[in-house]
Amino acid sequence: MVEAEYYYDVAIIGSGIVGLFISYMLGMMQSRRRLKIICIDKEHSVAQHASSRNSGVIHSGIHAKPGTLKARFCVKGNRMMYSILDALNIPYRRDGMLILCTDNNMNALEELQRRGYANGVDKIRFVYGDEVRRIERYARADTALLVESAGVTDPSRLAYALYEHARASGIEFTFNSTVVGADFTHDGYRIMVKNDEGSDSKSIIARLVVNSAGTHADDIASLVGLKRYRIYPCIGEYYLVRRKPYLVNSLIYPAPTFDYRGIGIHLTKRLDGTIAIGPNAIYVDEKDYDDNRFKDVLNKSIDEFYSRASEMIHGISKDDLEYGYYGIRARLAGYGSKEEPDFVIEEYPTNFIHLIGIESPGFTASPAIAEHVLCMIRDRL
Ligand SMILES: Cc1cc2nc3c(=O)[nH]c(=O)nc-3n(C[C@H](O)[C@H](O)[C@H](O)COP(=O)(O)OP(=O)(O)OC[C@H]3O[C@@H](n4cnc5c(N)ncnc54)[C@H](O)[C@@H]3O)c2cc1C
Repeated sequence: MVEAEYYYDVAIIGSGIVGLFISYMLGMMQSRRRLKIICIDKEHSVAQHASSRNSGVIHSGIHAKPGTLKARFCVKGNRMMYSILDALNIPYRRDGMLILCTDNNMNALEELQRRGYANGVDKIRFVYGDEVRRIERYARADTALLVESAGVTDPSRLAYALYEHARASGIEFTFNSTVVGADFTHDGYRIMVKNDEGSDSKSIIARLVVNSAGTHADDIASLVGLKRYRIYPCIGEYYLVRRKPYLVNSLIYPAPTFDYRGIGIHLTKRLDGTIAIGPNAIYVDEKDYDDNRFKDVLNKSIDEFYSRASEMIHGISKDDLEYGYYGIRARLAGYGSKEEPDFVIEEYPTNFIHLIGIESPGFTASPAIAEHVLCMIRDRL
């Protein structure tokens, strides 16, 4: 039974990094315009899904196909990200990404270089022999592509900082609140929200709605009749190496295969010194994080992780690996697809803005996506 109605100018569905950046930027706009804004999330707190379960890599934009939203927002997001991290006093390292030529895959590296130039990524160059080893002493390659603008940060720390700033500027947040319906009304949209703690549902009426619901963005879109998108959830797991932080200085990537598996299992030196190996790619039917449901697929592939890592570096043994964590990608292409699906930013119907398929490099791109959505909101309200 619906108990109460609450009125807002803007409702944002999802408090992952994208919903949080939109909230944060709307919050900064609040000093000039007073809008009533709410961010709704089904979890108990912010960034419980992909936004805290990724590599934390600030991508350069070199992997994205030229002309796509992924390329545009990643390159812009990379630049914005470092200045926002500085402004919010959040630590990061910007010491570049080394993409290795290990197995006669020079063509793939040349394609990456072409993409990088076309996308406007600067400071890309090939490095050879001793220079490769000066950058990454344990790398198993004599040729690599170095991209200096890539870096790494702590995504959860950023998410909480954005949340605190957004709240301080008057944005409301409601947690344990699942959006289960959406209707058009004369005031805008009526968003039906079920409280997961068992109490009655409520209605949020908003003049404009942003759908940044991650793996569920296609479900939210179909509530208002936008049915042509389908997300294929795809798990990415990580193993961790805690005992040998010296094996990796920064980010070591394989040459990409440009297929449905993503950009390949890579090595990320996290800010705490741990080396993360991952992610792999396992297509599943569930979109929510439930270790029990995934017990038949999780933590089964240590051999694959060990073999990918030892193709890239010397000095690692299987005993160094311990299971880490997993995230679920919001992919717009299924298993075996040769497509490189792009981000979707679409308004349907008027004043309902959908952000669908925001998979990697969505963390990097998130400030640029938010800035774009903010312009759309400004034009409409
Ligand atoms: C394994 C992995 C590694 C990655 N590595 C990187 C990387 O190194 N660099 C990079 O740039 N990108 C990376 N990405 C991509 C990046 O993590 C995502 O693009 C980004 O986090 C997406 O943010 P989001 O806010 O769109 O979605 P999410 O973080 O998934 O947030 C969506 C939110 O919506 C909420 N929600 C869903 N349905 C409902 C509903 N019905 N009602 C209310 N709330 C709802 C959820 O609870 C969640 O909080 C990686 C992704 C994965 C999975």
